[in-house]
Amino acid sequence: MDFNYTEEQLAVQEAAREFAEHELLPGVIERDEKEMFPTEQVRKMGEMGFLGMMVSPEYGGGGMDTISYVLAMAEISKIDASCSVVMSVNNSLVCWGLEKYGTEEQKQKYLVPLAKGEIIGAFCLSEPEAGSDATSQRTTAEDKGDHYLINGTKNWITNGNTASVHIVFAQTDKEKRHHGINAFIIEKGLPGFVVGKKEKKLGIRGSDTHSLMFTDVKVPKENRIGEDGFGFSLAMGVLNGGRVGIASQALGIAEGAFERALKYSKERKAFGVEISKHQAIQFKLTDMATAIDASKLLVLRAAKLKDEGKNFAKEGAMAKLFASQTAMDVTSEAIQIHGGYGYVQEYHVERMYRDAKITQIYEGTSEIQKIVISRELLR
Ligand SMILES: Cc1cc2nc3c(=O)[nH]c(=O)nc-3n(C[C@H](O)[C@H](O)[C@H](O)COP(=O)(O)OP(=O)(O)OC[C@H]3O[C@@H](n4cnc5c(N)ncnc54)[C@H](O)[C@@H]3O)c2cc1C
Repeated sequence: MDFNYTEEQLAVQEAAREFAEHELLPGVIERDEKEMFPTEQVRKMGEMGFLGMMVSPEYGGGGMDTISYVLAMAEISKIDASCSVVMSVNNSLVCWGLEKYGTEEQKQKYLVPLAKGEIIGAFCLSEPEAGSDATSQRTTAEDKGDHYLINGTKNWITNGNTASVHIVFAQTDKEKRHHGINAFIIEKGLPGFVVGKKEKKLGIRGSDTHSLMFTDVKVPKENRIGEDGFGFSLAMGVLNGGRVGIASQALGIAEGAFERALKYSKERKAFGVEISKHQAIQFKLTDMATAIDASKLLVLRAAKLKDEGKNFAKEGAMAKLFASQTAMDVTSEAIQIHGGYGYVQEYHVERMYRDAKITQIYEGTSEIQKIVISRELLR
């Protein structure tokens, strides 16, 4: 496989790196500590075109490929994973599905402002009783002719309070099981739509995670995405691509922690020499760099297959599985290399360690990735 980047891909990577260093690094510790949503930073990400990177220019997007997207995701994630999760949800889970499966009216009304970053979106699949087993949707969508009535609760919704547009999954016909699930575009503020309290989290604390409650929310029929019963296929298709984005988030977190650990190892002295002169530290750096390179190759392979329109289910799941474990291992070792300083806020790596964990949980846990991979292997 040829992984030579094009000039355009390199320019996107460079722009994301500069943006992250100048606009996201200042205040990242405070936003994490105070659990502040990065409103201003997300607005600027929209202006820079980072929220609709892969959407065609016709609908207000950047018309870029997945490789450019994962390179930018990794750069943003190196500095602030709370910002990159907003970027990931908007690009992969909301815009991509709307562009692929939405009607022209839905695209004009919702995709254009989402791709331009004028508004942000949320993807609402998980429920209190339906996480890994997303087929067990309890939220219902009753067909009332020209509209649906939505009732139920969604859990753990990223951008839950800040999104203006929510893609909500609900069961229309229980008898048909997952073939009876539909996806709807639901605007914030509709009567009966209530946003629950913000979750207090281990990591990505700047991101906005909420439960959402729907009581007799009236949604016009034209807001259903795809044919009747297409919702579950849409969710699985969208998550397939989303995994490549989360894998690149994990990669970026690992790269960020590694860069800090490498630098620190050349500055800190113990027993009269820089700690990088101790072989135990050199071996840690070696293991970290090797796992990061392997993660990067897996992420790029999945992105390339996606861009070529080929099946990338196994490769995307492998990338997420491996890169998320790498993020856990590398951030832990980055703290170890920093010694006591790694355990406190100002050296950043403790936040990265906390942020890394979510990449093993959302958009399919590591156990679910193994199910996806083994299913593809045994097909
Ligand atoms: C911060 C955060 C943000 C999130 N954002 C969103 C969002 O924007 N939209 C959204 O829809 N969801 C979101 N989620 C939900 C997330 O996708 C789910 O938490 C995840 O899919 C796991 O579901 P669960 O929490 O119900 O765990 P469960 O499904 O109950 O799993 C519990 C444990 O059992 C394991 N397990 C389950 N089934 C199997 C099996 N068949 N074989 C082996 N092991 C299994 C799991 O791997 C896990 O270890 C978010 C979650 C968090 C924490």
